[in-house]
Amino acid sequence: MTNRYDVVVVGVGGMGSATVYQLANRGLDVLGLEQFDVPHDMGSSHGVTRIIRKVQYEDPAYVPLVERAYDLWRDLEERTGRDLLYITGGVDAGPRDSEVFRGAVQSCEAHDIDHEILSAAEVNERFPGYALPADHHAVYQSDAGFLVPEQCIIASVEAAQAAGAEIRARESVVDLTPLSDGGVRVTSQKGTYEAERVVVTAGAWTRKLVPELEELAVPERQVLAWLQPTVPERFDRENFPVFVHATEDGHYYGFPRHDVPGFKFGKFNHFEETVDPDEMNRQPRPKDEQLLRAYAERYFPDGAGPTMKLATCMFTNTPDEQFVLDTLPDRPRITVGAGFSGRGFKFASVIGEILADLAIDGETDHDIDLFGLDRFDRA
Ligand SMILES: Cc1cc2nc3c(=O)[nH]c(=O)nc-3n(C[C@H](O)[C@H](O)[C@H](O)COP(=O)(O)OP(=O)(O)OC[C@H]3O[C@@H](n4cnc5c(N)ncnc54)[C@H](O)[C@@H]3O)c2cc1C
Repeated sequence: MTNRYDVVVVGVGGMGSATVYQLANRGLDVLGLEQFDVPHDMGSSHGVTRIIRKVQYEDPAYVPLVERAYDLWRDLEERTGRDLLYITGGVDAGPRDSEVFRGAVQSCEAHDIDHEILSAAEVNERFPGYALPADHHAVYQSDAGFLVPEQCIIASVEAAQAAGAEIRARESVVDLTPLSDGGVRVTSQKGTYEAERVVVTAGAWTRKLVPELEELAVPERQVLAWLQPTVPERFDRENFPVFVHATEDGHYYGFPRHDVPGFKFGKFNHFEETVDPDEMNRQPRPKDEQLLRAYAERYFPDGAGPTMKLATCMFTNTPDEQFVLDTLPDRPRITVGAGFSGRGFKFASVIGEILADLAIDGETDHDIDLFGLDRFDRA
């Protein structure tokens, strides 16, 4: 007999682990299926650290979501006894008219977020690992920091299992077919299941399983660098806030030292390479390293020592870079969370809550108007 679940979640990465936890915590019979290990370094949720901050200049709709996300991360820490969220403060810097600086000021003012405006000289004096040029300005926000994504996934999975969820790694889902009784048949490489509802949180692989998102959730190759600082204490958590930085060459982001020896940073959209996640070159290339090293040498010279580690990762971008959180119009038993466009991790805890709401009730109290699939029909 085929096992029938209330909900099958496809993909147990950042969003899927949070969704499985939320569903199990509400007493549902849940199965999570993950094609690789839990966690793993083949998708979008590895690399030790992810920025979390209240400043959300991309759209005001994200601010209440991130505030809820902070609370849910703290709840998960309490439930599992794991440290998941580290507060370091955060710097959003760039030329006065840059989206990063201007947007951060607007976001703080519009949402009454505690912040300070600092000149480049003030940033460099307060946080001596930084060497911002004189014409850059910064918004400093004290409650920004970072999450540790692999630990977040482990914590969500542990909490989900404690609430009764079943999670299976190394089991790839190959087909989702609606059943005549209203459910969905889920076929993996290892077996067949039935579910009342399915949630797809398959990250960069989403469009392989949900062709409706072929043009709407496009994977892009990213590279991260960890360089050994020549003055290490300047890159300690106590002295070095996370940052997002606009330069004439694009936007960069970075972190204090944590776990991997070295100052970690990356460039948003890196070389803008669209990829197939099953064929992407996961080996960092010399030109990847050169691009990143040139940035550190210019803006964080004390952090630009020998290379400690390089890693590749993927963004999954929508055309407007807003998320997709919706049920499929022609397959309403299937809910999708995808297209997090390089900034989704901080929200994973609240995305799990929203996807659980959508799977159970078809609606949520959170304001998710921005994330519907029908926006692409209107575009
Ligand atoms: C380099 C980099 C830096 C980033 N920095 C930040 C940051 O500082 N702050 C921030 O908030 N966000 C950041 N992001 C974005 C954030 O990490 C992503 O938005 C988030 O991790 C996406 O989570 P996900 O669950 O969609 O994807 P994943 O965590 O990749 O999960 C998808 C899962 O689905 C599984 N899967 C796929 N297909 C199948 C299948 N058919 N069957 C079974 N399993 C399947 C995959 O193996 C994978 O485990 C960054 C991303 C990258 C790459």
